[in-house]
Amino acid sequence: MLRTSSPPAAPRVVDGRDRQDLWCASRAHARALAVRRARALGPGWTVVHDARPRPHFHLARVTRRADGRLARRRAGARYFYGGSRGRGAAGLLPAATAVPPERDAAWEAAAEERETQGPAPGPDQQLRAALAARRWPEAIAAAFALGTRDENALTDLVFTALHPERRGTPIARHETALAQEWRRIRDGVVRPALHRLFAAGPAGPPAATRVARSTTWLRRAWAEHLAEKTVRMVPLQLFGLRATPVHPYTVDAWRALERALTATGYRPRSVWNYVNRPITGGSGPSLHAYGIATDIDPSCNPYRVTPDRPVVRFSAQPTQDQRCAEVKAGRADTAFTPQQVAAVEAITTVDGLPVLAWGGRWRSVKDAMHFQVNVSPDELRRGLRGG
Ligand SMILES: [Zn+2]
Repeated sequence: MLRTSSPPAAPRVVDGRDRQDLWCASRAHARALAVRRARALGPGWTVVHDARPRPHFHLARVTRRADGRLARRRAGARYFYGGSRGRGAAGLLPAATAVPPERDAAWEAAAEERETQGPAPGPDQQLRAALAARRWPEAIAAAFALGTRDENALTDLVFTALHPERRGTPIARHETALAQEWRRIRDGVVRPALHRLFAAGPAGPPAATRVARSTTWLRRAWAEHLAEKTVRMVPLQLFGLRATPVHPYTVDAWRALERALTATGYRPRSVWNYVNRPITGGSGPSLHAYGIATDIDPSCNPYRVTPDRPVVRFSAQPTQDQRCAEVKAGRADTAFTPQQVAAVEAITTVDGLPVLAWGGRWRSVKDAMHFQVNVSPDELRRGLRGG
């Protein structure tokens, strides 16, 4: 059910042909090799540490059993480490398969950044920065983008930022000067800002506020949905391909993505959403473990570390196959066209919040296969515009 899509360009690894066990000089080396192999195999693979009979790492594939529960199945080689060589181990690895330390360091650094900052500064960071700098219209726009539309709540936000010493204590009846100040903020700052934001019309809030939420923000918003804790994934067939499990709240969003890509001429060959695994190369769960992220055609839309923080490189070729060939030749980052990505990014909730964010927009990594839900469960359940 959780089939991996065609393997990324990285090392050529064919499952089933690498059963030879390996011995590594250190635990870190064994782990690094196992992680590298799991990445090469693509989504659905995870690295497991096993202390018995001898400490080693191995790869496991996450599969779904007939009763719907997830199972891990070991596959491929074992990576032993420490002490004398493990029985049946093949000895030191050929130099060609060793992980260049600088590359692994770059990966970890990028994953770390993705972990802590998420894709670009999200509205929550924008909001904190604007409040700290007392840029009220910007703060209100950021809060608006985060879903706060109520003028009293927005006035409280500004008032609290002006009076941190009160720690959010409500204004008492006798504090008439403060009550007056609160009303001046509402009438003079919040209402004019809200008027401008709502006047932005059916296109929603202005472009500046249409930025992606961070992975951390989304994890918090979807926390209770991790790994089917509260809600079971449902199978969803997209683009006529094999069904992938997705979070049930997100079905309409993925259907909208299917319509957007189909209308702009993209034909996926592999689409994959749910698997319970940590974020690639980092710590903490991947958004795939919540069923709120989907990967499309990893071989044509690869994950790349881009420490120089460039913007995504689109191919100008007319056909999807030609664009994919340019990606494989290293001249482009994605087989999507700007129009195809824009069509997906234009999907909004009834409140005008962007529903999906694209991993190709991230700076220090390019995860061009990756689209993730950009709203909270409550925001999503209010429905999609035009959907
Ligand atoms: Zn992904």
